[in-house]
Amino acid sequence: MIHFVGAGPGAPDLITVRGARLLAEADVIVYAGSLVNPALLDGRKEGCAVYDSAQMTLEEVLSVMVPAAQEGRLVVRLHTGDPCVYGAHREQMDALDAAGVPYEVCPGVSSFCGAAAALRAEYTLPGVSQTVILTRMEGRTPVPGREQIEALAAHGSSMVIFLSAGRLGELSRRLIAGGYAPDTPAAIVYKATWPDEKVIRTTVSGLAEAAAKEQVTKTALITVGGFLGASYERSKLYDPSFTTGFREGRA
Ligand code: SAH
Repeated sequence: MIHFVGAGPGAPDLITVRGARLLAEADVIVYAGSLVNPALLDGRKEGCAVYDSAQMTLEEVLSVMVPAAQEGRLVVRLHTGDPCVYGAHREQMDALDAAGVPYEVCPGVSSFCGAAAALRAEYTLPGVSQTVILTRMEGRTPVPGREQIEALAAHGSSMVIFLSAGRLGELSRRLIAGGYAPDTPAAIVYKATWPDEKVIRTTVSGLAEAAAKEQVTKTALITVGGFLGASYERSKLYDPSFTTGFREGRA
């Protein structure tokens, strides 16, 4: 059996209990060495084979995992954060389906959750935004035209931008062209939950300068929106006058 496991955003104790158990039992671990904290490998079984997928192609990853699984060994494919965002996960699952190799997926804490924790922020504030857009600027991977930053920025919602920390001048320009005011609050979270985590609070127009000052060019998320500001409405759910299925409201 092959287990795809979300490693979490960095801190080794932010993996799930299930993920940690699978890692401890694994005969083979293929981990994304570019972003997964290697401390997660410390508790592995003696004799466990370890591969760093940063130096491997999809075909090479499969050529390690498939024979091992067919021999009855427990394989863990360890992805950064959760495999469901920017994980190149689907192509692996499809190849395993085609080869008739069973697998399961164990979710992880995505870096956008780690970033919110570092910021002590809530993306979905009443009266501010009830939507979180997870996106990226195109790099060598294209982004569909209808998902260009300008088009998404037009919603004015909370935005989390992955894989784009190296081009913040362009990002600012496009966020503003899409409709965010230049002074909209923004934050750069570098290596959320790692020991060298940095939280840089700035504005949409200040992103490039703030990152240059702190020498951040990668492994960062850009968060944008009024959720980083001071004002919002309190929740209905915990309002004393509000009746829910669990609680009678008081006048
Ligand atoms: N599957 C991962 C994302 C992989 S894409 C997840 O769920 O988080 C890699 C990008 O994610 C990086 O370029 C960066 O933008 C972001 N990222 C991953 N880990 C991060 C962390 N600890 N802090 C900030 N950004 C991170």
